[in-house]
Amino acid sequence: MSRFLRESYQRLQPYTPGEQAQDKRWLKLNTNESPYPPAPQVIAAITPAEIADLRLYPDPDVRRLKAALAAAYQVKSENLFLANGSDDILNLAFMAFCGPDKAALYPEISYGFYAVYADLHQAQSRQIPLRADFTIDYRDYCHDEGFICLANPNAPTGLALSLEEIEAIVSSNPGHVVLIDEAYVDFGAESAIGLTAKYENLLVVQTFSKSRALAGARLGFAIANPALIADLERLRFATNPYSLNRLSLLAGEAAVSADTYYRERCRDIMETRAYTADVLQALGFTVTPSLTNFLFIQNALLPGETLYQQLKADGILIRHFSTEKITDYNRVTIGTRPQMDVFLEKVQAVLHHVKNANQSDERRKNTHDQC
Ligand SMILES: *Cc1c(COP(=O)(O)O)cnc(C)c1O
Repeated sequence: MSRFLRESYQRLQPYTPGEQAQDKRWLKLNTNESPYPPAPQVIAAITPAEIADLRLYPDPDVRRLKAALAAAYQVKSENLFLANGSDDILNLAFMAFCGPDKAALYPEISYGFYAVYADLHQAQSRQIPLRADFTIDYRDYCHDEGFICLANPNAPTGLALSLEEIEAIVSSNPGHVVLIDEAYVDFGAESAIGLTAKYENLLVVQTFSKSRALAGARLGFAIANPALIADLERLRFATNPYSLNRLSLLAGEAAVSADTYYRERCRDIMETRAYTADVLQALGFTVTPSLTNFLFIQNALLPGETLYQQLKADGILIRHFSTEKITDYNRVTIGTRPQMDVFLEKVQAVLHHVKNANQSDERRKNTHDQC
């Protein structure tokens, strides 16, 4: 840190991304990317002629991708906002809707970036604990006390609120914006997009990074009433109006046109999720009923950190959190069925090892007692 950095940023705790190993030999189940390639249409969209056009600025109004998304989600272009990943949207939304004069409310266990953005924009954070079973009590968010940010389904728990619960939160906060982060909604939960026509304080955020297999393209979008969208555009045009690059915009348009392909891949992932959860439960793991492309798992015989380290030694990356309340747990991205079989085989080997070690400990203790 230099002595020039503004004092207000010196204590900022940046977000720690999951490991992004750059050599290819890892089985990456740690950052919830898709195990499948983008749709063939996406690959065909990036032509040499389009690459040659990189000398030109992209459309700052993102008209073509907005029109494509508007048709797909049955809204108007004026209801749509696009930015460089949904992280970029979250940043602008925290900048716009909370601050020194307005608190930010979000669950204590959730996407780690919410706390970073609240801090960055000097909002007071109210981190609301989950219930012991990791569910969210929607009534904790019904008091119109500040800007609300909820991942639905939540990460890393995988658990979702119902649309009725979301609506109860939105309708009981007329004085504040409620942001619903639907990064994982395509894997089985209900979207709140339909409520945006009814509530002027609802901002729904989605991403191309998970279900549309475009994490590397950095595309996120939000749907809300036109006034909220105009607020976000105001800040985007005050920071970086060209934040969406030409190639990613093309990839995004092609991805929206390939709806069938993505629905099939989401279905594949949901099937593999059910299979993986069954095998893990048979092995004695606790597995939350996830509606996402990851599982949140725990085994009483096996500290979360140990499983993470042992799998890493075998070339498999999963996500471990050091946060006290979830340190026994790990988050595992759903890959392809063959990838999950590799993962499950290694998990079984680690468990076998731990059980054997425990048994020989027991035996040693017993022999000792007999002496
Ligand atoms: C992955 C994720 C994001 C970030 O998505 P990008 O569009 O890649 O920036 C946002 N929110 C949640 C809950 C996520 O899991």
